[in-house]
Amino acid sequence: MASINKSRNDDLDISPQDVIADAFNRFGDNRISISFSGAEDVVLIEMAYQLVGNKVPAFSIDTGRLHPETYRYIDRVREHYGISIDMLSPEPNTLEQLVREKGLFSFYQDGHDECCSIRKIQPLKKKLLHLNAWITGQRRDQSATRTGLQQEQQDGVFSTPDHPITKFNPLASWTSADVWEYIQKNGVPYNPLHDHGFASIGCEPCTRSVSRFQHERHGRWWWEDEENKECGLHVQNVNPRPVRVLDKHTQPA
Ligand code: SF4
Repeated sequence: MASINKSRNDDLDISPQDVIADAFNRFGDNRISISFSGAEDVVLIEMAYQLVGNKVPAFSIDTGRLHPETYRYIDRVREHYGISIDMLSPEPNTLEQLVREKGLFSFYQDGHDECCSIRKIQPLKKKLLHLNAWITGQRRDQSATRTGLQQEQQDGVFSTPDHPITKFNPLASWTSADVWEYIQKNGVPYNPLHDHGFASIGCEPCTRSVSRFQHERHGRWWWEDEENKECGLHVQNVNPRPVRVLDKHTQPA
């Protein structure tokens, strides 16, 4: 097995399958998990399934605001591969307080950081307390914030001095075309929203379809600056230090 090259140079990357195999070899199947968003990162599930069968460790973050199609699709993937997918939910008291004070669509007024922190970051933080590594479907071609993405990196958001966490991005050098070629060649089930112009899929209120002339991330948080289009899970792509809002809603571990 080739060791993972940490260079940002596409030419020096190893195959996604080799990244996943290396990650599983180093972290076993109970200290690492795949983050499945319910979109085209399903290729990670397929690749892992080819390696370890239905022992694929996977989770999805259930923000409570996903499209109905995405909920059904996540369950379809679960049945298709015969795998378990942990559904991570927000802490109810914190979420109720946000909604009570600001309503259900505060992100249109004051940005998506606070809502993403409660609905995504905190559930993931809780999950990662029990893991040493996670695997994401991030790619360099997805946005201006991801051009420097590495196949393996120290997680700069969720690591602590006592609990370092490794983040693997096996698809870093793949393009959207590579992903779709793989999905079609391998008969991988995909979210039907992709057939309706949704290139990048997140929460329903924060995702809209794009034309084929627009970049795929154009449909995410379209009311905000391109440079800030990260939800906090991967905020180290734009800021090497965790954002303030993360601290605000972080409960002591
Ligand atoms: S993507 Fe939108 S709805 Fe989903 S957690 Fe972030 S701000 Fe909230």
